Amino acid sequence: MRQRIIAGNWKMYKTIAEAEQFANAVKQAELSATVEKVICAPFTALSALSAILKGTEIKLGAQNVHFAEEGAYTGEISPLMLKELGVDYVIIGHSERRQYFNETDETVNKKVKAALQHGLKPIICVGETLAEYEANETEAVVRRQTEAALQGLSAEQVSVSVIAYEPVWAIGTGKSSTAENANQTIAYIRHVIASQFDQDTANAVRIQYGGSVKPDNVAGFLQQSDIDGALVGGASLTVEGYLGLIAGA
Ligand code: PGA
Repeated sequence: MRQRIIAGNWKMYKTIAEAEQFANAVKQAELSATVEKVICAPFTALSALSAILKGTEIKLGAQNVHFAEEGAYTGEISPLMLKELGVDYVIIGHSERRQYFNETDETVNKKVKAALQHGLKPIICVGETLAEYEANETEAVVRRQTEAALQGLSAEQVSVSVIAYEPVWAIGTGKSSTAENANQTIAYIRHVIASQFDQDTANAVRIQYGGSVKPDNVAGFLQQSDIDGALVGGASLTVEGYLGLIAGA
């Protein structure tokens, strides 16, 4: 049985004060114990969140990481530094990073390896653009991105990783994929992992859907056979939204 996982991706939102306010409010709420709960916050808020969320069931995630442990990489943050902050998860290869910050399949793979070596669980994002979707290239794109991201990992490392299938055309647009379509592509990603590794590994890895998920549509996605959770941007920014997503899962 794969445990469901709801992860909020705050992107470049929330100051430390705002993050603290959010965490203190969420901490008071009664949360479903069956769903794994993650908040992926900006680097600047991680330390404060770590202190507030310590001892709760809510896990902390970052939104990017460098692949080196340390070095002359101005402006970057290493896996070691995240681990020290009590971070458990890190989003790698989000489409916004691929699109605006030159993230490639190769850097994604390096970052995934570095994260796992330091005990951070990667949430690896894959997904096609609108042009690729319209050209019927969805499967080819997610296959390429998935195989590249997981290249050189052990089956055990893949099993603890999370994949997020996020069609780029559904992110922040209010246009989510249908649950059936998302499930079909996610089942295909599982099939890709089974060919690259083995069926047991493919069955163990959790695959989320992301792209305009909200409290009122999350259940529809999670009812699908292969969808194990959601990676949520906009709707995870309010306490009400985040709690609604967890309740709906
Ligand atoms: P959205 O973003 O929920 O605002 O569409 C999802 C994401 O980018 O992870």
